[in-house]
Amino acid sequence: MNVLLVEDEQKIAGFVAAGFKEQGFLLEHCDNGIDGFDRASNGVFDAIVLDIMLPGRDGISILKGLRKAGNATPIILLTARNELDDRLEGLALGADDYLAKPFFVEELIARVLALLRRVSGERQNVLLVGDLRLDRISREATWCGHTVDLTGREFNLIEYLMRSPGRVFTRTQILEHVWGYDFDPSTNVVDVCIQRIRKKMSAIGASDEGESPIESVRGVGYRFRKLA
Ligand code: CA
Repeated sequence: MNVLLVEDEQKIAGFVAAGFKEQGFLLEHCDNGIDGFDRASNGVFDAIVLDIMLPGRDGISILKGLRKAGNATPIILLTARNELDDRLEGLALGADDYLAKPFFVEELIARVLALLRRVSGERQNVLLVGDLRLDRISREATWCGHTVDLTGREFNLIEYLMRSPGRVFTRTQILEHVWGYDFDPSTNVVDVCIQRIRKKMSAIGASDEGESPIESVRGVGYRFRKLA
């Protein structure tokens, strides 16, 4: 799950980022309205958490701009207590929900998940390729009907590959997307993480090694096996 947070208050951004990360979500943060609109327009996000009072461009204007451009990404507005008018205007302009400050990050996460359930429905929130099933809301993975106990990072990695079966991703692409920041490209964290996933899947014993859905592509990276 990939969430964009547009919020200029560092303190709020800090605890929101920590809370989402703890739940295993990917969170990108912009601290002003100009960058926020740019990222929201050009990136692919499951949801956007948007503050109203922002330097550069306010949240209502960003919301208006995105909806006008046909961008339907679910949006939750963060509002101050005295911004009732903005809140109502936001909902009228196509915001999906709002949350008044101060709030608990647990509530924000619950709202985002509720929104994703409502907006996308079961079909998009469950990825199913061959015998592997990922539920992006409950973050449960099952392989041949058995639960695979994945960490947040492992889940995000396999989800990333699984969304484009057959496509080869380089270690750098995987690092950037799943770890979210620039690592030394010589690091082997991707390989180590993939080994752990394979080990967990083969421990279930439902399939032999050769059938692992994650294929190594020598000298390039990894891909999720495409099924006929
Ligand atoms: Ca603000």
